[in-house]
Amino acid sequence: MRIVVMVAVSMSALLISPVPGQDGADLNRRFEEVREKLVELKEGLGERFSAGRTPEACREDLERLGVSPADLAVVLGRMLIVNGADSEVRTGDVFPRGFPGGRVAPREIRIRHLFRAGSRVRFVAEWRGSRVWVNPRRGSAGVDPDDVAANTGLLVHAAIHNWGLPHTSVQELLRRVPEAPYEEIVTSRFARDCFPEAGEAR
Ligand SMILES: [Zn+2]
Repeated sequence: MRIVVMVAVSMSALLISPVPGQDGADLNRRFEEVREKLVELKEGLGERFSAGRTPEACREDLERLGVSPADLAVVLGRMLIVNGADSEVRTGDVFPRGFPGGRVAPREIRIRHLFRAGSRVRFVAEWRGSRVWVNPRRGSAGVDPDDVAANTGLLVHAAIHNWGLPHTSVQELLRRVPEAPYEEIVTSRFARDCFPEAGEAR
């Protein structure tokens, strides 16, 4: 009896680990973890912004960018966190012709290509939209679900792109020397200014 059960288990194990499988399944699980944490965090941030409890430095950053905390709360409420590693959406659809932020990537490139293994892209935010694709890979540029400060920075940064400011304008308005990696500089700035608790805790 025991043997029969074991055979059944190992056969089903074979059936559920198909050829392209392991990496994809693991990435999906990790993405769910990341998404859950980001959604929880963006709800808290939205509440904080709409209730006028925006940290001083964060409010000043937003003022320079011309976006009110209340506007940002609305954008955060609509934001959809999407798995970047398996997205077939073309970058040309995320950054349409006339996008003022310059050339991003060839229009036919799919989002998942931007998040392949070894990629340094942490997220891609739709310009004037609600989608934010995130890198679910562990390590390197992947989003760490438990890094609250970094993820606060990511969400504020992404929300500003969703709202309508391209990265070049954010960079200019925050008066940062345009140095690579561009995206990470802005994300850490918002992490520091919009989540000062992280600094105090150290
Ligand atoms: Zn940016």
